[in-house]
Amino acid sequence: MQVYSGKSVFGGVAIGKIQVYAREDDGRQVKRIRVEDAEAEVIRCREATKEAMAQLGRLYEKALQEVGEANAAIFEIHQMMLEDGDYQESIENIIRTQSVNAEYAVAQTADNFSQMFASMEDDYMRGRAADVKDISGRLLTILQGGEKTGIHTQEPVIIVADDLAPSETVQLDKDKVLSFVTIHGSSNSHTAILARTMGIPSLIGTALPPDETLDGKLGIVDGTNGLFYVDPDEETYARLQQAQREEAEKRQLLQTLKGRENITLDGQKIMLYANIGNSKDLAVVLQNDAGGIGLFRSEFIYLESDHYPTEEEQFRVYKPVAETMGQKRVIIRTLDIGADKQCDYFEMAKEENPALGCRAIRICLTRPEIFKTQLRALFRASAYGKLAIMYPMITSVGEVRRIREIVEEVKRELDSQGIQYGNPEQGIMIETPAAAIISDQLAGEVDFFSIGTNDLTQYLLAIDRQNTALDEFYDPHHPAVLRMISLVVENAHKAGIWAGICGELGADTELTREFLAMGVDELSVSPGKILPIRKIVLETDVAEYKKNRPGI
Ligand code: PEP
Ligand code: MG
Repeated sequence: MQVYSGKSVFGGVAIGKIQVYAREDDGRQVKRIRVEDAEAEVIRCREATKEAMAQLGRLYEKALQEVGEANAAIFEIHQMMLEDGDYQESIENIIRTQSVNAEYAVAQTADNFSQMFASMEDDYMRGRAADVKDISGRLLTILQGGEKTGIHTQEPVIIVADDLAPSETVQLDKDKVLSFVTIHGSSNSHTAILARTMGIPSLIGTALPPDETLDGKLGIVDGTNGLFYVDPDEETYARLQQAQREEAEKRQLLQTLKGRENITLDGQKIMLYANIGNSKDLAVVLQNDAGGIGLFRSEFIYLESDHYPTEEEQFRVYKPVAETMGQKRVIIRTLDIGADKQCDYFEMAKEENPALGCRAIRICLTRPEIFKTQLRALFRASAYGKLAIMYPMITSVGEVRRIREIVEEVKRELDSQGIQYGNPEQGIMIETPAAAIISDQLAGEVDFFSIGTNDLTQYLLAIDRQNTALDEFYDPHHPAVLRMISLVVENAHKAGIWAGICGELGADTELTREFLAMGVDELSVSPGKILPIRKIVLETDVAEYKKNRPGI
């Protein structure tokens, strides 16, 4: 038996025969050939691009059916990358200036661009290196007269590959795939995201032999513990088979919880909402039966743009979300740029301590024109559903009052222009120790609190949440964090408002019962966590739990 460890992108156990993914273009040698007629090569390349665009359009439709809009979006991104001016210009430039064949120019451009992406600091951008290779591989296959193939297998297999491009993943016949195990890949890559949505136990970054030695052998992927067994011994086989049975039963059970109210055995209710970063995540929100959206991180609209998103651009994002969710609450958090989320066009001064610097509401209050644009879009969208607005990084009552003044200005402007808007609830994030400590005062100023435990933990424990070297010290179960949550909920209730948690800790099922005991009104978590938490809620007797409740 050989055991390899990797990074899990989706839990669960898969047992089956291993198939090493051999792609048609593996080891493809692209020759540099001088051509007489460079313009003819350029035209050939443009034709190939057209065909690639058409293929991607078909893949988008297929993915839309199988894995929903959010995950199909990668093919739209590929279309955009393929048509990107810089990418096309680079290819044509190489053909013309060096009088070479289109294949060589595409391969060269793929190398240059993917190296450029791979060297970027941002995880998301690094993930795009694989996408450039993918679109270029597609172009090359077309130029070389082939059809980009999927995996052909008669029986369900564990796919082992150096890396899998998103288009390769989606083209697979899902009934035939038990799991993916790859040597490379990042958990931010679209392939990892697809694997999660498809619910296939998968590992990335697995130190496998880079050849075909594993092909045809029996494998077990333990996605929960990040282990891959090849030729497992009897004991391992039996143990993981049992784990697989238990997983399947659990999943089955969770499905039966759809449509159920989130209510404890002794009648306490809690709202279970979803965190999203993109309107494209709506399908998975609905699939997982979320009662609403508790945190829409609107800064992604800014991060994905190369200019300040206009009122109209933002309205076009917020309105369909409000409409789709209907009477379910949609809490949109205003811009939380700064610290780890930087946008070049904001031209922010370099700071010694960005996490303690000009971020989130501090930017909005010092540059109100940016804030007002977003508020106008949000208020307009609030006419189309149950929209709520949430302000991040609050530390004082004065900030909330200043926000209220700006909001009133925006409403006056909309009134004078005869533009329709609703009456959105307005709440704040409690993610600084200052806000938690004065939550009794803040509660009188707003409609709700949502506790951002990611930042609250970092500021309370004085530990940079981005610094993985400090992981062992970053303890969100620290009594200081739990006591703060309890205090905030208590102060919210005294003032007659509700309080939820939208930081990662809200999804920590070890604490669900404790949160219920504290009286937390809402947990906003990643969509896949809603049903597991609902299960705990349904099985909890809060009064009973309180009898033996551990002290904090
Ligand atoms: C938080 O700080 O807990 C939070 C939800 O916001 P973000 O992670 O986006 O800073
Ligand atoms: Mg935060």
